[in-house]
Amino acid sequence: MSNPSLLILAGDGIGPEVMDEVKRVIDWFGDKRDLKFDVSEDLVGGAAYDVHGTALADETMAKALEVDAVLLGAVGGPKYDDLDFSLKPERGLLRLRKEMDLFSNLRPAQCFDALADFSSLKRDIVAGLDIMIVRELTSGSYFGEPRGIHVENNERVGINTHRYTESEIDRVARSAFELARRRNNKVCSMEKANVMEAGILWRDVVNEVHQADYADVELSHMYADNGAMQLVRAPKQFDVILTDNLFGDILSDCAAMLTGSLGMLPSASLGAPMENGRPKAMYEPVHGSAPDITGMGKANPTACILSFAMALRYSFDKGDEATRLENAIESVLASGVRTADLMQAGETNPVSTTEMGDAILAALEASL
Ligand code: NAD
Repeated sequence: MSNPSLLILAGDGIGPEVMDEVKRVIDWFGDKRDLKFDVSEDLVGGAAYDVHGTALADETMAKALEVDAVLLGAVGGPKYDDLDFSLKPERGLLRLRKEMDLFSNLRPAQCFDALADFSSLKRDIVAGLDIMIVRELTSGSYFGEPRGIHVENNERVGINTHRYTESEIDRVARSAFELARRRNNKVCSMEKANVMEAGILWRDVVNEVHQADYADVELSHMYADNGAMQLVRAPKQFDVILTDNLFGDILSDCAAMLTGSLGMLPSASLGAPMENGRPKAMYEPVHGSAPDITGMGKANPTACILSFAMALRYSFDKGDEATRLENAIESVLASGVRTADLMQAGETNPVSTTEMGDAILAALEASL
């Protein structure tokens, strides 16, 4: 049997720097755990625009549709700020999400003990936190028609349409229930069924999917505004939160900040299963291309490495190896090794991007 395939799109800014550390981790799993991948690399974002005049070449898109998983670094930067909207680096990312039909966006909010003091909340509220937000990514308010700005009665009117079909809700609900079964078996679905018809339908369909196929999973419902409050009041009550595109955008950023630095946050975007049973998938850190620190060796590679851990778990069914990698990162942080973004006032001597990679590889080695 051939090895599973990975397409690496490192992108712009710190993307290639953090991805270099991920490549070392991938090699380690190949050498030491006999988990070999066929890795190919290509361009996305500004890097692709510089060569092809577009943020994602058709050949790259075709490759992304063929591989088992895509690992993406980051796109964008000031050099491309004045480009026409249709040519901007972010269009590459949007094209990947759209053509791979990645409808389920997984954003974990996990608080490593060693970093609990980074949260704006009290240590006991966030220490040990491990929740997952499942956000619908391809429909809802950001895509619904009609949309636009037009003039009505001599004034401008802005319109967006919050629209969901049953099948769109059904498939993302299944994705959340499946995920919960691999975790603590609890889903809390969030909408605004008190004031929005689309919210009523959302709740109905989630209940139907639950009754039909996932009755073993504990399901609750919450209005999204209460959900936001509960996330900062007592976030540990949640396991998996299921929500739509608009509320998910806001709730996942809120949950992310419970845990501290942008340099620590991974994500996965999943689509329908392919012929081999694996979901279409793209894994990427939440952060951007960080032009302010590009080329300085200051970038924290952890978010990108944790994104690879998500790939191990959700694309390749290697949850044990994903845990091995997460534990290695936890032990590095516990030993006090910090990149600059993780330094508290008064702390000195941050490690570089490569030194953080070295420390994580050493911890992996120690796990054998
Ligand atoms: P950003 O995430 O790039 O940076 C925000 C701040 O966090 C910066 O101070 C940066 O130095 C810091 N930071 C981010 N990642 C870090 C890491 N791994 N280690 C240490 N520090 C880190 O967001 P921004 O500055 O708003 O955007 C910069 C560019 O990135 C823009 O062109 C934007 O469009 C793009 N962007 C891309 C993505 C993506 O590729 N998914 C996401 C967000 C922003």
